[in-house]
Amino acid sequence: MAMTHRRFDTLVIGAGGGGLRAALQLAEAHADVAVVSKVFPTRSHTVAAQGGMNAALGNVLPDNWHWHMYDTVKGSDYLGDQDAIEYMCRAASRLVIELEHYGVPFTRLDSGQIYQRPFGGQSQDFGGDQAARTCAAADRTGHAILHSLYQQNLRAKTHFFDEFFASDLLVDDEGYVLGALAVDIASGEPVVIEAKTTLIATGGVGQLYRTNTNALINTGDGMAMALRAGIPVQDMEFFQFHPTGIAGKGMLITEGVRGEGGYLVNRDGERFMERYAPHAKDLASRDVVSRAIALEVHEGRGCGPEGDHVLLKLDHLGADVIRKRLPGIRDSAITFAGVDPIEAPIPVFPSNHYTMGGIPTDRFGQVVVPARTGAEEAVPGLYAAGECACVSVHGANRLGGNSLLDIVVFGRAAGNHIIDFLAEHRQHRPLPAATVERAMERLNELDGRRGGESVAGLKKELQAVMEKHAGVFRYRELMEQGLAQVKAIKERLAHIEVRDRNRVFNTARIEALELENLVELALATVVSAIGREESRGAHSREDFPDRNDQDWLKHTLFFRDDLRLDYKPVRLKPLTVDAFPPKERVY
Ligand SMILES: Cc1cc2nc3c(=O)[nH]c(=O)nc-3n(C[C@H](O)[C@H](O)[C@H](O)COP(=O)(O)OP(=O)(O)OC[C@H]3O[C@@H](n4cnc5c(N)ncnc54)[C@H](O)[C@@H]3O)c2cc1C
Repeated sequence: MAMTHRRFDTLVIGAGGGGLRAALQLAEAHADVAVVSKVFPTRSHTVAAQGGMNAALGNVLPDNWHWHMYDTVKGSDYLGDQDAIEYMCRAASRLVIELEHYGVPFTRLDSGQIYQRPFGGQSQDFGGDQAARTCAAADRTGHAILHSLYQQNLRAKTHFFDEFFASDLLVDDEGYVLGALAVDIASGEPVVIEAKTTLIATGGVGQLYRTNTNALINTGDGMAMALRAGIPVQDMEFFQFHPTGIAGKGMLITEGVRGEGGYLVNRDGERFMERYAPHAKDLASRDVVSRAIALEVHEGRGCGPEGDHVLLKLDHLGADVIRKRLPGIRDSAITFAGVDPIEAPIPVFPSNHYTMGGIPTDRFGQVVVPARTGAEEAVPGLYAAGECACVSVHGANRLGGNSLLDIVVFGRAAGNHIIDFLAEHRQHRPLPAATVERAMERLNELDGRRGGESVAGLKKELQAVMEKHAGVFRYRELMEQGLAQVKAIKERLAHIEVRDRNRVFNTARIEALELENLVELALATVVSAIGREESRGAHSREDFPDRNDQDWLKHTLFFRDDLRLDYKPVRLKPLTVDAFPPKERVY
C-alpha cells in the first residue's frame, strides 16, 4: 500500500502554547499550516500551567519592562542572552492584552484591570521591593491560554493532525529540512508530511527524572529529533527543580501560593528561607529555594516520620482567598497529599519541572548551529519555539511566569519570520526518496526488536539514574557513574520488546520511540553537566561550588556523534539598552 503524503507551507510539530501561537500567526497570514500533536491539542502540557504569565502591566504595584528584564537576566544567573530577554520583556504587555482579546479570562481587580500576583525573583527598581508581575487566570492560566489559542486556530482554519506522533525530521543531503515523518497513532500507519518550513514546538523533557511535575508526554521528542538530524542541543545541564512539588509524588504546587503569602517551615516550625534569602525569603529564585529545602532535609531538619520533606503553610491566608485564588491547588493537595490546605500545611520537596536547555535558536525562532567560519548559521527551513527551544531567555534558571511568556512571544516571532521566509521560497524543494527511506528505517528496525526487555522497566531505571546522578546536587564521580549507567541502558534498547503484529493503538511502539528519545537527552544532560566545572543557577556542583564567569560565561552545545561538547559565547549585548554585567546574585 502506498504511503500517505501530505504537503503544507508549514508544519508545526506540537500543539502547546508555543506551537499554537505560531500556527495562529501563520494561518491568519493565509499560510497553509498543519499542526501535528501526539495528544489532542488541548491536552498539551501548557494546559497544566497554574500560576500565570509575566508582563510589567503595573496594575497592582509600579512596574516597567526594564525592571522585568533586569530580574530575568539576574534570575538566569547571567547566562541568558540579553538581546532575546529585552525583546521578550518589551513585548510582554502587548501580548497579554492580545491574549485577553483572544478570550483568555484573566482574573480581575475591583477596578476591572487584570489581576497580577507576586512571583519569585521579581523586583521593583532593579532589585528593590517585591514586584507583582504575574497575570493570572486563578490558578489555571495555562488552561485558559491553551483553550483560547486552540479556538482561535480553529477559527483561522489551521489544519490539525490530532494524535499523530512525529518520529523524525526529513532532511535532504544538503541539510534542508523538508518536513517530518509521523505515525497515525490510531492506525499505526506512517504519514509523510512535507513542508517548506518546519517548526519544532514539542515542549520539555520532564520525564527524564523520576519525581517531576510534568505529564507523561513530556519526553523531549523534538530535541531528540534535532539531535538525530545532526543539530546540537544547548545548555542541557540546566534543569529547574521546582521547590514545591508534592512530597513523594512530584505534582506541582504553584509558586503563586507563596506569592499569595504562603511560606515554608521545617521540622522546628522555623521559616528557614529567612536564613537563606533574608530579603526575598520564600520568593527567592527557584534554584535558591530548592537548594535550601534539600539542605534542610539533608541536615536533619526535614518533616514527617522519614524527615524527607518540608511544609508549605497557607492556612493563615483564610478559606476565602484559597477558594477564590487557589482552587486547583486545594484540589491537588486534597487528592495527592490527603491534606486540605485550608486546615493543614502541604508536605513538599523539589521536583523536576522545567528544561532550560534545548534546540539553539535566535530570537526569530530560527534554529542556529555553529558554521565552519566559527560564526552561527541558520538551518534552512527549520524553526523551534517554546520549552524545546533555547533562545536563551532563561539561561541557568527560569523565573516563574516567564515560560508562558516565552512560548507566546517566540511562537509569534517564529510565525512572523516564517511568513517572510515563505514569501521568498514559494516552491517546495523536491523530497528525495532516500530521505523518506532513512526516516522509515528507524520505525521498521524498531518493529523487529524482540529481546524481552520491558520499555516501562527501562524507563523507570533511566529516571532513577538521572535523579540520583544528575539531580539537585552534583559532583564528577557521581555523574560519571550515572553516565556509565545511561550508556548501559542505551545498549539494552537493542533488546526491547516491541509488538508489531497489531499496530492499531499500539502504544507500546510509541512508548519505545519516546524511550529512545529520553535516552538521547539523558546522555546530553549528563555529558553537559560533567563538562561544566562551576555552579551556576540550577547546576550546582559540590566539587566546583562557585560561579566562574572568567571561564564559564558561555553556552554548552552537545552533539550526538561522539558525545562531543562545544561552547559558544553568551549574547551579553541587549538591543537598545545597556547590558546588565554579571554580579553576585543575592536575594
Ligand atoms: C505543572 C506545571 C505548571 C506550570 N506553570 C507555569 C506557570 O504558571 N507559568 C509559566 O510561565 N510557566 C509554567 N509552566 C511551564 C510552562 O507551562 C511550559 O514551559 C509551557 O507551557 C510549554 O509549552 P510548549 O508549547 O513549549 O509545550 P507543551 O505545552 O508541552 O506542548 C508540547 C506539544 O508537543 C506535542 N508533541 C510532543 N512530542 C511530539 C511528537 N513526537 N509528535 C507530535 N507531537 C508531539 C505534544 O502533543 C504537545 O502538543 C508550568 C509547567 C508545569 C509542568
